[in-house]
Amino acid sequence: MQVEGPVDEVARPVGDGGGGDVVVLGEPGRHRVNSELLGAGAGLAAAIGGRCVMSIDVVDDWEALSGQGVDRVLRHAGTTGAEDVARMLEGRLTRDPPWAVLAPGTAWGREVAARLATRMGAGLTGDAIGLEVRDGRLVAFKPAFGGRMVAEITCTSAVQMATVRPGILPALRPRPNGPFAVEHLEAVPGSRTRIIERHRDDDRDQLANADVVIGVGVGVDPTDLPEIEAHAAAIGAELCATRRVTDAGWMPRARQVGITGHSIAPRLYLAIGTSGKFNHTVGIRSAGTVVGINPDPDCELWSACDIGMVGDWRAAFDLLIPRLADELAQ
Ligand SMILES: Cc1cc2nc3c(=O)[nH]c(=O)nc-3n(C[C@H](O)[C@H](O)[C@H](O)COP(=O)(O)OP(=O)(O)OC[C@H]3O[C@@H](n4cnc5c(N)ncnc54)[C@H](O)[C@@H]3O)c2cc1C
Repeated sequence: MQVEGPVDEVARPVGDGGGGDVVVLGEPGRHRVNSELLGAGAGLAAAIGGRCVMSIDVVDDWEALSGQGVDRVLRHAGTTGAEDVARMLEGRLTRDPPWAVLAPGTAWGREVAARLATRMGAGLTGDAIGLEVRDGRLVAFKPAFGGRMVAEITCTSAVQMATVRPGILPALRPRPNGPFAVEHLEAVPGSRTRIIERHRDDDRDQLANADVVIGVGVGVDPTDLPEIEAHAAAIGAELCATRRVTDAGWMPRARQVGITGHSIAPRLYLAIGTSGKFNHTVGIRSAGTVVGINPDPDCELWSACDIGMVGDWRAAFDLLIPRLADELAQ
């Protein structure tokens, strides 16, 4: 089985950068989400003859940044509280207004973006699933009516803003590294909110970064989950679930994929025990190859699959997983 990797390369800057800045708001510690946004930011910047500017607190790998799309870094010291970061960026971006600001559609990203948009009087499209430039303006694509329609939204404000759904933008191949400028900012603590403790029920990035994901629905028995985990380990896969599975408490909510869960873009997605309802499969639209296994020859899952196997997941996995383990190891 041929498993597809990223096809397109991160766009390179064109011209003298006078077309304006596309500022990408980097979330602390969310490498995968940040690199998705940078790929989109670099593409928009190239389309307007501008530059892609990343705002971030800690940089783990300076070498990789340019390849991911960065032409300038606004590196901020101090607090990373949403209110403080928004205030800090307002100061910098009012002095030198960008063409657009992109933020991750995560809890933190949404909070910073909403506060920044209000402070700057900028139009903000929330939870976009795609971005493009048309007539020199930013067009953000946003699902409506439960995802059955995609609306094209433009802002009328000078600075255009959008938050983007994590996991929905395609992974891009890095462009060759080049030099980039760094500007230092300071986020001064002044927030009325004090964060006493942070807790996540799971590591969301583990799923977001996975090349291979097994999606589990209620058609499997919960007592079979250890066996499915062993199959996943054999091919280096992460597990995700339908909402019915997370509602039943078989897996953490952070593993839910779909319209009210996460969007993911693995190179290979194996769906078992799920009927493939739209509310679930909308979250795997950016997956590379989708393989479905279901005994029902008429289920909805087939319309989302590249390869469908009509049958029981266990019988299919007994044959498929050892072959896949060999293929993926090469
Ligand atoms: C507002 C709203 C938001 C929602 N958001 C989400 C969301 O974000 N994510 C999400 O997933 N859902 C979401 N849902 C629920 C969604 O509509 C579906 O109900 C849900 O995805 C179905 O889950 P399922 O496929 O696990 O179960 P089912 O639809 O019951 O499918 C089980 C499948 O397992 C198959 N099966 C049985 N035995 C086997 C076997 N041995 N091997 C292989 N297959 C077998 C059956 O043939 C069946 O097709 C949402 C619903 C609403 C109303």
